[in-house]
Amino acid sequence: MINKALEVLQRYFGYTQFRDGQQKVIESLLQGSDTLAIMPTGAGKSLAYQIPALLFKGTTLVISPLISLMKDQVDALQQYGVTATFINSSLSLKEVRTRIDRVASGKYKLLYIAPERLESDSFRCLLDSLRVSFLAIDEAHCVSQWGHDFRPSYLHLGPFLKSLPQKPLIGAFTATATEDVQADIVRLLGLREPSIFVTGFDRPNLMFSTFRGENKKDFLLEYTKAHADQPGIIYAGTRKEVDNLQSFLTKSGLKVGKYHAGMTDEDRLKSQEDFLFDEITVMVATNAFGMGIDKSNVRYVIHYNMPRNMEAYYQEAGRAGRDGEPGECLLLFSPQDVVLQRYLIEQTIFQPERKMNELKKLQGMVDYCHTPRCLRKSILEYFGEEDVQEECGNCSSCNDQREIVDITLEAQKVFSCIYRMRERFGIGMVAEVLKGSRKAKIRELRFDELSTHGIMHEVALQEIKDLINYLVAEGYLQLSTGEYPVVKLQPNAVSVLKGEAKVNRKVSPKPYRKESEEV
Ligand code: ADP
Ligand code: ZN
Repeated sequence: MINKALEVLQRYFGYTQFRDGQQKVIESLLQGSDTLAIMPTGAGKSLAYQIPALLFKGTTLVISPLISLMKDQVDALQQYGVTATFINSSLSLKEVRTRIDRVASGKYKLLYIAPERLESDSFRCLLDSLRVSFLAIDEAHCVSQWGHDFRPSYLHLGPFLKSLPQKPLIGAFTATATEDVQADIVRLLGLREPSIFVTGFDRPNLMFSTFRGENKKDFLLEYTKAHADQPGIIYAGTRKEVDNLQSFLTKSGLKVGKYHAGMTDEDRLKSQEDFLFDEITVMVATNAFGMGIDKSNVRYVIHYNMPRNMEAYYQEAGRAGRDGEPGECLLLFSPQDVVLQRYLIEQTIFQPERKMNELKKLQGMVDYCHTPRCLRKSILEYFGEEDVQEECGNCSSCNDQREIVDITLEAQKVFSCIYRMRERFGIGMVAEVLKGSRKAKIRELRFDELSTHGIMHEVALQEIKDLINYLVAEGYLQLSTGEYPVVKLQPNAVSVLKGEAKVNRKVSPKPYRKESEEV
């Protein structure tokens, strides 16, 4: 079966092989299993249903929510010599009739429609006569109210499918991976024992790095200078930061543009075009930059501030290396970023449940910045890919040559302090007690009388916090979600306290902050 699919791929589309992930999805559909495929944008979802469509008898129906994309898709298919058409509200009634007639006479392998069409009786009649055997649903997350893009018209799909005399094979496609949304898709579309694939998230040509404790401005200057002839994007958290960094880097002689929502449309467009046509090499921007820009030779993406979650990070970082050539994705962590993002989440009008969820995702991002494990593996597992290799050899963790040291004693100090504070306080407070602070609050709570008060007095406060973050990222500690996250001991921390297990860490980074700068 897959050989036939490969033949179609080569004959119609001119590609030599399937991408990672495409093949599994196509195989599953060809075997006749309802299939839910979660593949990121650009991974090649379209081919994953177009190829089965070409192999199946009759016309395949493709449900797609975006009228503009429908036309592009159909145009592209026609260029490849595939017969396809679309029917949506942009067409005159006359044109719709003509197309319906042609579809009915079997002239097309693929018919794209918007979900609203399913409400029209005349259209339903057409479908009944067509005996659709395969139905592909693009942007399937639109059916879920949990998703970011819920569309009520997608709710008609379920009843529509139920009403068909013979249930077609269903392929549902989306770039959104949360389990809630997956469950909704399966339930609302009535998928029967579906095969679910989370796939294609890996971008092997990208190298991932995280940095903690750097002087970020110096780092940026050094890096951009060393890569002065290469296009790169620097994402910063606020407009003000973007303005600052742009003037800072411009002074050092680099060709730097900027982009954020506070600029006029005109200025933004100019900036975007200058970047596209290499008039400027570096773009400093907020997350407003990127939607719809298509520059394939971006060689690096630096995050000057940590984004709010992995979805946002991976989308932005993924703008590097679109051409398949090596690209670097660097994330500069500082504890202030967490404070800012936490504040922004608190300021939203989200329901408490949603806020909790956002805070949890934020913690996932903090963990990413502290984990000694392979960064690629962390990312791919976050998105739900299975069977990911332990080490990719192309990230700052895998390439970290530093010596592994036994930090069991330090970890025990931290754990026992948390235990004595009754697991009711956050990282900052625990670190202060370990450091031996005599702040009013600490004396009030009589934490200055604990045996663990000041047992790490010789270590910089920031280093203690980093250590605690490390122990969180490693799963010894858990941070509660909520406005004031509290550190709690996990069972493996108890084993360490009892002396039954050891804790290792690659040699701790050098202290980098003066005490006065600490947050
Ligand atoms: P998605 O719908 O997942 O965002 P597309 O289907 O638009 O992605 O595919 C993204 C790009 O990748 C397109 O230009 C497509 O032609 C190309 N592509 C898809 N599959 C392959 C393949 N097997 N080999 C090479 N290029 C591919
Ligand atoms: Zn790795």
